[in-house]
Amino acid sequence: MEQSRIARVIVDAPFDEPLDYKLPEELKLEVGQRCLVPLGRRKVVGIVVGFAETSVFPEEKLKSIQSQIDDVPALSKKWLNLTCFAARYYLSSWGQVALASLPLFFRRQPGPRHELSLNRLRKESNLVKSKKVNKPILNAEQADIIDRFNLFTGFHVGLLFGVTGSGKTEVYLNLMDKVFSEDSNAQILLMVPEINLTPQLLKTITNRFPDKLARTWNSSMAEAKKAQAWLDCHEGRARILVGTRLSIFASFQNLKLIVVDEEHDTSFKAQEGVRYSSRDLAIKKAQIENIPILLGSATPSLETYKNAIEGKYELYVLPNRAIKESELPTVELVDIRKEKLRGGISEKTYEEISKTLSRGEQVIIFLNRRGYAPVVECRDCGWTSQCPHCSAYAVFHKTIGQLVCHHCGWHTPLPKACPKCGSMELSSVGRGTQKAEEEIASLWPEARIVRLDHDSSRAKGSADKVLESVHQGTTDILVGTQIVAKGHDFQNVSLVVVLNTDPQLLSGDYRAREWLFSVLMQVAGRAGRTNKKGKVLIQTKYKEDPLYSDLISQNYSTFAVRELDARRTGHLPPFSAQALIVSESANINRSIEKLNQIKELINKMRHPAVRAYDPVPLSLYRLKDIERGQLLVESNDKKTLQRFLSELTREMKQLKLDQSTYIDVDPLSF
Ligand code: ADP
Ligand code: ZN
Ligand code: ZN
Repeated sequence: MEQSRIARVIVDAPFDEPLDYKLPEELKLEVGQRCLVPLGRRKVVGIVVGFAETSVFPEEKLKSIQSQIDDVPALSKKWLNLTCFAARYYLSSWGQVALASLPLFFRRQPGPRHELSLNRLRKESNLVKSKKVNKPILNAEQADIIDRFNLFTGFHVGLLFGVTGSGKTEVYLNLMDKVFSEDSNAQILLMVPEINLTPQLLKTITNRFPDKLARTWNSSMAEAKKAQAWLDCHEGRARILVGTRLSIFASFQNLKLIVVDEEHDTSFKAQEGVRYSSRDLAIKKAQIENIPILLGSATPSLETYKNAIEGKYELYVLPNRAIKESELPTVELVDIRKEKLRGGISEKTYEEISKTLSRGEQVIIFLNRRGYAPVVECRDCGWTSQCPHCSAYAVFHKTIGQLVCHHCGWHTPLPKACPKCGSMELSSVGRGTQKAEEEIASLWPEARIVRLDHDSSRAKGSADKVLESVHQGTTDILVGTQIVAKGHDFQNVSLVVVLNTDPQLLSGDYRAREWLFSVLMQVAGRAGRTNKKGKVLIQTKYKEDPLYSDLISQNYSTFAVRELDARRTGHLPPFSAQALIVSESANINRSIEKLNQIKELINKMRHPAVRAYDPVPLSLYRLKDIERGQLLVESNDKKTLQRFLSELTREMKQLKLDQSTYIDVDPLSF
């Protein structure tokens, strides 16, 4: 058959449709191949996505594809399919999603030494020989799951719901083993949260599969490493890719299984650029590839858990810790309602820490810092600033002197006295974390204390060093934010202290409780990992909150069922679909003004199944000198919302808004 004369090409620019180019006779391009095309005055790398006989543009105006880039095989139809889906769903352009996902080396105009570099990338893919290690004998629950999880019957989704330390990793490894013994050329994608991509995990994997090339992929890797990992996967040499959210856009020849570990982790959702959820896209990818996917967590997201109990996903449970002697820790609440704290620490907590240290054991102090949103409470009667229209708390915005509900936009001036009892003792919940941090050192002058949070760990490797010092026992107290909660197997930590969770209990963000429960379960999981019974102390003013009783009994299921009920009543996700239209500018009034224009537009569209709320400032509305407003739109299901949003983005073009207005589909934070 004669080749068509017009090629449709996507490029890294905000076009709604692929661009048409003439295809010179001598170029033998296939769909999925990269090529060099003129775009305005520039030459850019594009990807051929189809061919056509005719174009809607006059033929004399069409430019020609200049050349093929290199001999790298074409990207697969499945890959194009996924990037196209992601672009539609997250309201971006196909070309921008597809090209931005490639390492720089494959999306920039090739230099004179391109072929040479390409050959070097291919040559460096040697296997590192390591000796095979003994694997633990599976317990009955693990063995049963490995038996039941279908690896060779096409697409389906499983949720591996197992408490911390229950041996989920072992299940993944055994499933991988089974896949490889059926097809030794199979490829497997293992997605992990940012913080879990540790050298230990990689060591475990390379030790278990010494003859399989394993690659990692995350955003902070050097470009050359990224290019190498990408090419190894794309050309089928790498059999295992362990990567963070970005790796969902890797390209494979023979992908047979996807595993998403800690599927509830919020780092799977991009918080800038195209705001995609790589967990959700992973399910789409498995569907496109027609392969199984396993999501793992001790505290699954409510979205995932709902699907599992409704039977849309299969549910696999690991109810016990894998190592017999390691029991789950006991959780105790420390009531601080009436207590005077020293550096944020109560008398009882102080004594427990001192006792633990004197036994020569280690302590973790977990400072909750996330989502600080000032809910106002009355010190005398316990009144809190609940929105009269929603199951959410209104949050105090100092600059405008108002309490604002972030769900519906309801607002009111901050009352001078408590509306319930008239007391003047109103204050915002949960200040004083910084002070705690400084004073811990003065409370235990003898102890060796290290701090770990996102700021202090930004310098590459410094977090590893701190964690290593805890493993080695050269540290007595580890103080840190959520980064200490994740995946570390400390042997000598027997006490975990949790400070400052109350703001999260009373957050204006309806997801805050889910997040809090999950992080507390994980933090608790750090205590008593081996043979010492661990203890967790939580300081709170709200010890009656049912979240705590579920935590004490380590019962995620009852927690999840109750939260899901509340979400159902409040028409909140996963019982509705949401998108957040966010506007950024130097001044909050300008941001809100832009959103009001959009709101007017929405009203004119008269979409009966979509609710649009009033624009409000984001709870953290000022960030790096940019002031941000949000407009929440909501529908009963994702399909309706999708249809509405794609219509809305077309309409919004008339308003000629700049890049500083974007839409976050399925937002995680408000
Ligand atoms: P999770 O990922 O569920 O938190 P891990 O996979 O990290 O749990 O397992 C916790 C610990 O239990 C690890 O040290 C692991 O080596 C060990 N382990 C897992 N399965 C078994 C088993 N069947 N027998 C003995 N130890 C096991
Ligand atoms: Zn009161
Ligand atoms: Zn409200």
